[in-house]
Amino acid sequence: MASKRDYYEVLGVSRDASEAEIKKAYRRLARKYHPDMNPDNKEEAAEKFKEIHEAYEVLSDPEKRRRYDQFGHAAFDMGAGAGAGTGAGMDFGSFGGFDDLGDIFDAFFGGFGSPFGRRRRSGPQRGSDLEMDLQITFEEAAFGTEREVRIDRWEDCEECGGSGAAPGTRPITCPKCGGTGQVRVTQRIAFGHFQTVSTCDRCQGRGKIVENPCSACHGRGKVRRPRRVKVKVPAGVDTGSALRLAGEGELGINGGPPGDLFVRIQVLPHKVFKREQDDVVVEIPISFVQAALGDSIEIPTLDGKMKFKIPEGTQPGTVFRLRGKGIPHLQGYGRGDQVVKIKVVVPTRLNEKQKELLRKFENTVQPDQYQLRKGFFEKMKDAFMG
Ligand SMILES: [Zn+2]
Ligand SMILES: [Zn+2]
Repeated sequence: MASKRDYYEVLGVSRDASEAEIKKAYRRLARKYHPDMNPDNKEEAAEKFKEIHEAYEVLSDPEKRRRYDQFGHAAFDMGAGAGAGTGAGMDFGSFGGFDDLGDIFDAFFGGFGSPFGRRRRSGPQRGSDLEMDLQITFEEAAFGTEREVRIDRWEDCEECGGSGAAPGTRPITCPKCGGTGQVRVTQRIAFGHFQTVSTCDRCQGRGKIVENPCSACHGRGKVRRPRRVKVKVPAGVDTGSALRLAGEGELGINGGPPGDLFVRIQVLPHKVFKREQDDVVVEIPISFVQAALGDSIEIPTLDGKMKFKIPEGTQPGTVFRLRGKGIPHLQGYGRGDQVVKIKVVVPTRLNEKQKELLRKFENTVQPDQYQLRKGFFEKMKDAFMG
């Protein structure tokens, strides 16, 4: 503590600064070093922040400031030579603790929350978010749908009106915390006493104790009740898409706003369609004769059956693209494509007559009629026979 910086220096003000100047400097610095504003440097910022707050605690109080001006840090230090634990009589016990700091912040900066992650219990609190999964079909994902889902949330018990006390009785004020829901614990630290505020363990922060619990809610004051919520699923969603339904989560506390409901989409697999981004992929098996001669067939699309012309001499694995026949883009206009992959099927279990026909046919084919095959054998010749 010997290297403790001068409080005026910490706040960057002169020794004759007015109360207003000190307050202004404090607000500026506290905001700058607030740990929430320094996510990459939280710990260092927290140290700085503590130092700033300590300086402000002293300089903003005329009596403490007078003593500090007279005696310097010695006015408040525990005294290095005195050893630990001799803090009796030190004025620093009034150090407000960081929850009070949280108040300052809420007042000044519109509520970053308290700097060390602790949430304040009193006052309006937003309700928690809820999450659920929703399974939809391939077509519903493609074109959108409206679904009604069922989800439970905590609501006030009607039996006891939310008090948790059996009808005809009422909750009593918690004797441990006097109804505040919080208890203060004083700790000794290097530069004085330090008070932390924690939730009262007797009443779990409620401030009230139910002696005769309501049988409907077991004293909770809340019951889980199913609700029906309409979910509009937009066209183009995919597995992993999440829809946010604002205000459909748990109810807020003390007049706080409700949380949101997040609906995670899971798209069920389709019998013939597969999805690649916004393209619909479908594999069409055709016979080797259809591939050679060409044919006009019907293929499935998202919009129903469609006539499709297989060109003469279509090779296995050929891919055709039907523009705009895929899945609507979730953001923006237009649709993906339908991708038609041709699979050529070779017949099996041929009888003697069929085999004879094919042998006769094969004898009539010129080598250059097998384009790919010819190319392959030429490459092989190059590779192995130089
Ligand atoms: Zn209590
Ligand atoms: Zn009840």
